[in-house]
Amino acid sequence: MKGLYKDFPERPSGGRVYQRPNEVKVCKSCGAPLGRNYKSCLECYNTIEDLWILDWKELIEKECILSGSNDEKILAEVIIEEIDKHSWTIVDSAMKMVKCKTCGNELGGGPLDCPECSFAFGNLWGYDVEAMNQGKMTGNEHSLRVGRWVIRYPHRQKEKVVESWKFSMPILITGKMATTQMGQFFRKVIDEANFNLSNKVYQSFEEAYIDVKNNTK
Ligand SMILES: [Zn+2]
Ligand SMILES: [Zn+2]
Repeated sequence: MKGLYKDFPERPSGGRVYQRPNEVKVCKSCGAPLGRNYKSCLECYNTIEDLWILDWKELIEKECILSGSNDEKILAEVIIEEIDKHSWTIVDSAMKMVKCKTCGNELGGGPLDCPECSFAFGNLWGYDVEAMNQGKMTGNEHSLRVGRWVIRYPHRQKEKVVESWKFSMPILITGKMATTQMGQFFRKVIDEANFNLSNKVYQSFEEAYIDVKNNTK
């Protein structure tokens, strides 16, 4: 029993400090649905990234560590060594701070052929499986995590995949989810490029789905 427990440590939840936007808004800076242009627009970036940053701030305050200090870097390195003990938002935040020893980029975010980044990236997802099984992570939170990894390091993905996540993030951050079927539908729409999903602000995946259905043959 004790051994079993050791194999499945309880996964802490993450991303719950941030007060999420309750509707999809138009970004005042770039004019797109807020959160879509994570890479190129600070307003969009903050809307997504704050979900991670607020958890990190809470942690360093608890540890009496100053933001930007050397202690913060050391803490990030410690966390990378014990990822099973921390929430997904804390681990992702630490990965952003720790540089890969092989390629020098944010750990997990280097070029696709960097073995150290691939290894670190691959190690992240056991948490999600366990945490979802334990009811500590929602499907929406898992999607946000995957989506942020895609849009933060778009060079690691196919262009259409990045486009698809950029479309989803503003809706996901409000807490809504697409069904698997709907996800496949949007991927097809983006692959075939027969409808411009970036023109309008959709509050939900259902709304976007109906719009595409009504306006394509
Ligand atoms: Zn923006
Ligand atoms: Zn690397």
